[in-house]
This record gives sequence, structure tokens and C-alpha cells, in this order.
Amino acid sequence: MDIRRKKIIKSSVLQSMERLLAEARKAHEAGNEERARRYVRMVLDLLKKHKAKLPKELRNSFCRKCGRLWIPGDTVTVTYDKKTACLRVRCACGNTKRI
Ligand SMILES: [Zn+2]
Repeated sequence: MDIRRKKIIKSSVLQSMERLLAEARKAHEAGNEERARRYVRMVLDLLKKHKAKLPKELRNSFCRKCGRLWIPGDTVTVTYDKKTACLRVRCACGNTKRI
């Protein structure tokens, strides 16, 4: 596959992932948790399939373990880790991540 074709695929994958995350957010706001999680799972599948990378602000917007959207004060708690001097996010499923 030539590079130009790859680039087109990558950009369209990124676009659809952004759209899926926007939809997930909408579903979450409407109180449809199951639907939101399904969208996040689809994003994870796309990431795996195309070995794509998300921009930083999107990468840290959902849980890779349980598929929850990360909304500070709602689904995650954000704490400051003094030992490592960074922010630590704890998901409702118990998964933690350093940002
Ligand atoms: Zn989680």
C-alpha cells in the first residue's frame, strides 16, 4: 500500500473516531450509559485495527478498561500525586492513569 493511501485511511479513521467520541459524549449526557460505552468500544476497535493514535486530549477522555467516558467529578476523580508530581485519574472501575 502506498503512503498516500495510508494517510487518507489514517485521517478518515481519526475523523470517525472523533465523531464516535462526540456521539458517546452525547449519549452519556442523555443518560444512555450503555450506548456511550458501545461507542467507546468501537473507537478502541478502530485504534487496534488501524494502529492509529489519538491526539492527547482525546486519548485521555475515556477508560480503556471499561469503556467509560471520563468526565471529571462524574465518572472519574482527579487527584494530584505528590510523589510523582503529576495528575492521577481514577476511573469508577478502579483503573488509574497518570496524565
Ligand atoms: Zn474504567
